[in-house]
Order: sequence, then structure tokens, then C-alpha cells
Amino acid sequence: MLSNYIGGDWVGAVSGATFDRHNPAALGELVATAPDSDAKDVEQAIGHVSAHHHEWSELAPEARADVLIRAADVLASRADELAEELVREEGKTLSEARMEARRTPQNLRYYAGEALRLTGETFPSGDGSWVFTSRGPVGVVAAITPWNFPLNIPSRKLGPALAAGNGVVFKPSELTPRSGQRLVEALIEAGVPGGALALVHGHADVGRALVSDSRVGAVTFTGSTAVGEAIHRAVPASVRVQLEMGGKNALVVAEDADLDKAADIIAKGAFGLSGQACTGTSRVVVHESVEIGLLDRVMERAQAAVVGNGLTDGVTMGPLANRAQWDKYQAFLTSGQESGARLETPLDIPRLDEGYFARPAVFSGTAADSRLAQEEVFCPVLAFITVGSYDEAIEVANNSVYGLSAGIVTQDMGTAMRFARDVDAGVVKVNQATNGMAMNAPFGGVKRSSTQTYKEQAGSSMMQFYTTDRTVYFAP
Ligand code: NAD
Repeated sequence: MLSNYIGGDWVGAVSGATFDRHNPAALGELVATAPDSDAKDVEQAIGHVSAHHHEWSELAPEARADVLIRAADVLASRADELAEELVREEGKTLSEARMEARRTPQNLRYYAGEALRLTGETFPSGDGSWVFTSRGPVGVVAAITPWNFPLNIPSRKLGPALAAGNGVVFKPSELTPRSGQRLVEALIEAGVPGGALALVHGHADVGRALVSDSRVGAVTFTGSTAVGEAIHRAVPASVRVQLEMGGKNALVVAEDADLDKAADIIAKGAFGLSGQACTGTSRVVVHESVEIGLLDRVMERAQAAVVGNGLTDGVTMGPLANRAQWDKYQAFLTSGQESGARLETPLDIPRLDEGYFARPAVFSGTAADSRLAQEEVFCPVLAFITVGSYDEAIEVANNSVYGLSAGIVTQDMGTAMRFARDVDAGVVKVNQATNGMAMNAPFGGVKRSSTQTYKEQAGSSMMQFYTTDRTVYFAP
């Protein structure tokens, strides 16, 4: 049984309500029972953190850094156990889960360093006085996260927020409460005081109560565009907000591309993490002269996918995360065919009695303005769109409300550099999959993929989100 962490104690929801999470690869297996919290629990959590986070803010930055490094050590020592729990809770394969379990402590170490690198500025003045800025924590940060990277994404929010001396109220996804709690347990065990960190499990109500509370100074959210935009409308004007949202990522395959390499890149981008990565490849924009050769190669890789329980040896693709994801997958298979696109992969969808399994689905001849080409699917469903020139490829790639990640496969570096300038995306990949990001480089989208206020995963811009500047005028 999982618990909320409020006021330094592990507690149930005030109402006593709970919810269950089952293994998406083995629906009969209960993975977690967590408090189904509501506004009352949020009220207590924010009340406590806003009253007590100062004891954490006032610590020397090196002391906060030490705590984060200790938490990283705790997580690293449990990496195998965490990876296995992550497979059972979220559904990804063991090798995908191991990568996440290794990345999470690395994130905390990175942000521990950032605690020591916060700086202010001094400005020239004519009268012998000093003018300078001094940076401090924002206060209370609300962190709301999705299920697809339930350790990694929260560590990219809690790590920098705590490094800067903020108090944090964290709401993990209701699909992955166990992983969220494991991160908090490590931070508490390492020495984060109860006044600086609260965990509130639950559904959308918990998020809504968090983002509308005037004691919260900053809201950091990763999730869907629909929810992110609802949060943007709900957050008071005085509260800073960072929203990293959905995508419809295009990979352009130029006429000079090495097709085997392109097919490998596409398979990793589209079918990795069962198609449930925000930066996953959803559209292939292919030059007509290489379409057939590319399609054949991508189909080979799609058909070679071994779908099953991520803990089983040899499985390369785990299940979808829940029933809603599975229903969406089915709906896109139907609407894609109705729109005139050709489903190239056989429709052998496994029955639902064991888990939410789905096979890679590849469509060709997709109309650029169809639902299949425009809406985020977030499943292993790939749409080929054929074009006749570079200019048309850019037009199609940019014909989207989203702008998270985009890629090109080409042997011509001039074309690649042109693409990096022309495509509307926050992340541009050349001869690499659209998913998979460096932990120390800026990460975020443009258009309706992000508020573009601050990028995640980058030292100075990320730390600006979690700190406020005051400008001091000082006459001797
Ligand atoms: P979601 O938007 O449904 O939920 C995200 C979180 O918001 C959950 O914790 C949920 O409980 C909470 N929530 C739901 N309604 C809320 C409301 N009205 N107010 C406040 N909080 C609310 O997203 P999801 O299904 O968990 O995750 C999948 C989505 O996340 C996809 O769209 C994917 O592209 C996106 N994503 C984006 C990135 C990125 O970096 N841009 C990374 C991972 C996932």
C-alpha cells in the first residue's frame, strides 16, 4: 500500500479513498494501491510546505547538493529493483526500464552541481553605488508528471527545484504511483526534510487543486497538450508555469538516404517504448523515389518486433499503458483506413485478456491533413507521407500544431543544415531517431508542444525557472 507524504509523515488520503494500478502486461496482477487524494490532501500538503520549506532554502547550497547526491546513490543502489518495478507498473521492456533507472540518479547528480552554480550579476553604475541581482528560490513548486518516464521526468523537476532551495509538492501520474513514490522515498532517506517535499497521489482533481492555489509560486508540468493548456488557463498570472506537452514528430527521409540506416532510425523512433515517447516518430515524410525501398525495410522491422511482457527474455516491445491507450490505438487503426491510408501491417491484434498488447502499425499513402497525420497517437502507429521535393517535405513536416522533435536522414550535410534551420521543432536530429535526449542539453518544444518559457534539462535556463532574481541598489 502506497502513501502520501505530507508534513514529514506517510499518510493515507483524508477521505480514506484508494485506487489500484494493475500490470498492463498481466492485468490480473495488482502493482499498487495508492491514496486517491483530493483538494483536502493538497491543502494540507501546500500548507505544510509553504510554512516549512525555509529550513531547506536556508541550508548552504553544498548541503543541498550533498543530499541530492546521497539520493542518487540510494537510487543507483536500487536500480535493478526499480527497473523491474517500472516494467510491472508502466509496461516498458526491462532494457528500457534499466536505462531509465540509470538515468534518474545521473539527473540528481547533475542538478546537485547546479545548486552550486547559481549566480547573480553586477551592473555598472555612475555614482559609486552597487547594483546587483541576487537569486533565490521561488518558494513552493508544484510538479505534475506523466506516466511514460515516471522516474526520469520527476527527477528532472524535483532535482533542480530542490537544488535551488524550493519546497516541492509532487503529484505523479495515477498510472505510475509506485515509481513516483520510490523517487520521493530516496530523497527523504537522503535527508530532504519533510517541510521541503510532499507527495500527493491521485487523479486530475489533485492536479487542478495544486495549480489553482495562490501559495504555489511555480507550476512545472509534463503531459498532454490538452491538460497543459487547461493548466495554463487555470494558473494565476503571478505564477510562473512551464508546460512540456505533446508532439507529432516527423522524420524526413531524403532521396540520398541510406535506407537500412533510415529504417533502423525509424523503428527505434516509432516502436521504441511501444510508441509511447513524446519525441517518438509518428510521421515519416519520405521522398517518392525511395518510398518503396524504405517501406519494405520498415515493415521487416515492424514484423520482427516481439511484443509481450517486458520482463520476458527476447521481448522487444511491451504493452500499451492502459485501456485508454489501447482504445486509442484501435481508433486510429480504423480512422486511418477510413481516411484512405493503407495499413501495411497485418491486423493481428492480441486479445485483451492478458495485457494491453499492440503490434507496430504502419500506414502508407497518408493524407497530410488527415487525423492520422495531424493528431498525437502516442502508440506504435506510424504514418508514411510521400513527397516529391525538399520544399514539400518541409511544408509537410511543419504542417502540425506541434513542434517537439523532428529528424532528417540524409548523406548531404548541406541539406541537413538547411533542415535544422527550416523545421519548426525544439529538438532537431540528423541521422538519429527523433527520441532519445542528452541529459545535459536543453530540451523542449515549440508551438503547442511547449510554453517555451524555460527549457528542461539545461543548466542555466532550467535553473532560472526555479529561482527569482531581485535587483539590489546599494549605496555605501
Ligand atoms: P496527461 O496530460 O493526461 O496527464 C499528465 C499529468 O497531469 C497526470 O499526472 C495527470 O493526473 C495530471 N492531470 C490530468 N488532468 C489535469 C488537470 N486538469 N489539471 C492538472 N493536472 C492534471 O498526460 P499522460 O497521459 O500522463 O502522458 C502522455 C502525454 O504526455 C503525451 O501527450 C505526451 O506527448 C506527453 N509527454 C510530453 C513530454 C515532453 O517532454 N514534452 C514528455 C513525456 C510525455
